[in-house]
Amino acid sequence: MTTENSAAILPVLRKSAELRARIAAWRSAGDRIGLVPTMGALHEGHLTLVRRALDAGERAVVSIFVNPTQFAPSEDFSLYPRREAEDVAKLQALGADLVWAPELEEMYPPRFSTYVRVEELTDHLDGPHRPSHFQGVATVVTKLLRQVAPDRAYFGEKDYQQLQVVTRLARDLDLGVEIVGVPTVRDPDGLALSSRNLYLSEDERQRAGILPRVLAETADAAAAGVASLPELLRAARAALTEAGFGPIDYIQICDAETLVPVNALERPARIFVAARLGKTRLIDNMPVGRSNLP
Ligand code: AMP
Repeated sequence: MTTENSAAILPVLRKSAELRARIAAWRSAGDRIGLVPTMGALHEGHLTLVRRALDAGERAVVSIFVNPTQFAPSEDFSLYPRREAEDVAKLQALGADLVWAPELEEMYPPRFSTYVRVEELTDHLDGPHRPSHFQGVATVVTKLLRQVAPDRAYFGEKDYQQLQVVTRLARDLDLGVEIVGVPTVRDPDGLALSSRNLYLSEDERQRAGILPRVLAETADAAAAGVASLPELLRAARAALTEAGFGPIDYIQICDAETLVPVNALERPARIFVAARLGKTRLIDNMPVGRSNLP
């Protein structure tokens, strides 16, 4: 909905009552609504999701909320970049319709005690490495989808496991929203854009481009049947260690739908990695057999 709105001041709402009123007004005017949930520090990956909503003729609602329940105590909640003024300026320039930046107490009132847990999909990949992460994600996304009640919600394949978890919960809980997955946006050297890339030193940023390269080469070799998947994954792990990554939480090829690790390519599969470079934990994934590097 860029046309009549691009010159207007982009509203930033912090109270659910204000949000409800705005959404109700759009609904009664017959507008369709697209939601893009984010934790802010917006980059071109996020903006691509917003453009998808605008291109579909939807009112583009962007939520900005650094969700404490998806961070473990040992993780980077307090360090996570917060740049609201810059984010709002970027969204205003794009023609987004609304920023939903709830206060903490709006999302987690005193004695908050109800959580959403998605089984199976969270047994793999990041699940075991970040024990309460997906429960935090599923809970906050369920709340955002209830608050905004969009027709569609847009999520990046960058966080592919999250995309699958959200798709499953929207179906299982009859949330009546279409979840749209959007391909990963990358820098010219292939590194997936991420708010956490801001943590990388100049030298680490140089080396980080090796991660998607190893992923793409391993995916191509797997698709070509150059060696067994365990052999290829061992070689990939060694290449990353050699380049200074570590610890490597996982590098695995999994079924693209169930996320169960596979030893042979019989159904659509993806390669997934989570590895630390210095203090920064980087994750990435891509389809096996169809490299999505630039
Ligand atoms: P975050 O702010 O990290 O929670 O991300 C908000 C949304 O943007 C999630 O759906 C992410 O998957 C998506 N996203 C983050 N980075 C990228 C990227 N490089 N390309 C596409 N989508 C992304």
